Amino acid sequence: MTVSSPDRSELLRAPLFHTPRNPFQQDRALECHWDGGLLIRDGRIAACGAFESIRAVNPNTTIHDLRGGFLLPGLIDTHIHFPQLRVLGGLGRTLLDWLEECALPEEARMVDESYAREIAGGFVRALVSHGTTTAMVFGAHFSAATASLFEAGTKSGLRIISGLVLSDRQLQPELRQTPDSAYRDCTDLIRCFHGRGRLLFAVTPRFALSTSEAMLEVCQTLRREHPGLRFQTHLNENVREIAAVSKLFPWAPDYLAVYERFGLGGRGAVMAHSVHSTVSEVERLAEAGTAVAHCPCSNAALGSGLFALKRHVEAGVRVALGTDVGGGTGFGMLKEALQAYLLQRVAPDGALLDSAQMLYLATRAGAEALGLEDEVGDFQPGKAADILYVKPPEDAPLSEVLKRTESPEQALAAIFTLAGAESVRQVRVEGSLVYNQQI
Ligand SMILES: [Zn+2]
Repeated sequence: MTVSSPDRSELLRAPLFHTPRNPFQQDRALECHWDGGLLIRDGRIAACGAFESIRAVNPNTTIHDLRGGFLLPGLIDTHIHFPQLRVLGGLGRTLLDWLEECALPEEARMVDESYAREIAGGFVRALVSHGTTTAMVFGAHFSAATASLFEAGTKSGLRIISGLVLSDRQLQPELRQTPDSAYRDCTDLIRCFHGRGRLLFAVTPRFALSTSEAMLEVCQTLRREHPGLRFQTHLNENVREIAAVSKLFPWAPDYLAVYERFGLGGRGAVMAHSVHSTVSEVERLAEAGTAVAHCPCSNAALGSGLFALKRHVEAGVRVALGTDVGGGTGFGMLKEALQAYLLQRVAPDGALLDSAQMLYLATRAGAEALGLEDEVGDFQPGKAADILYVKPPEDAPLSEVLKRTESPEQALAAIFTLAGAESVRQVRVEGSLVYNQQI
């Protein structure tokens, strides 16, 4: 039996921001407390508001004075590939060439378990050092490598949603499974990792281009047999990819219809990109409750195209953000939100994103996409205390800018514009420090 101390709570004091509501649908969705207090008890948010009023009713609580920095909800990355850590920076290609020349040869190296373990360790360190506390991750094409990611996730304390990447055609033979072996391996991984600690399993066909109908049927069967699994794949990323998919599935009126035939959508399903989705596909995504992971750095780096954010949001599609490492340009979700802003500035009929919408896209929208909105994504009492503490180094341009900002919105916009990993000082998951930058 453990003996609990009289008051095991902690009160963090700093300006804080969160979006408990959807700023695309509601005014004043951003909540900010300039002299903020965040009360953590047993790993949960016990109170969020003005520091003095929280302290007044919790006089015995340990106080951490973090003024000089800012508290944000832990960032949520809804699309990223762990085996692609070392192929970041493969510029100058479009999707299919990049896959063939950069990504897939590296993914084949994951057959070596010790190499995969090394990459998984580096991968989770990069997530947390950029302030990401929850990530939906493409695993490897190999079961042992995917298990090593789950194990690295457990060790790091992060919330990791991942799965074995499934393919049985088009890719080089060493990256293919049979539908039978895919079913067996996924079932084993689900038994080992799904729901263990902060881990969840996601059924993960790489994309329609590399999966037969039999493999997509396996995906459907797994979801039916294990309620609560998540689902992730790619959709309408690149025009050459889309043309190839339509040749492989001549019966399908469009790309999304391939997944729909096998019931692969709905709540807890995340499709990456949706850059070229038709009006009908966008409507069907909204109707099914399927989320889209918008990956603006990757879309620009691979020349995939401009995402119709407004059209998706207005149709009612849940849109969140993904870094899409290694097609993207790094692990920073703050940078990803900035890139979303930048591309929308130049997109025809682009949205003019404000800092509340950027914060929502990088936090609560991700929680909603992953079906975790009751657990994480903002600072509402009862949620897990997943917290990012941003404090730029004294000589950083962001420190200079923050001396002059006159409103919370301005400060938040400056953080999105200028904060990188150097400004991520502390990261907590369920109240526990999982990262503490030494300076
Ligand atoms: Zn991807």
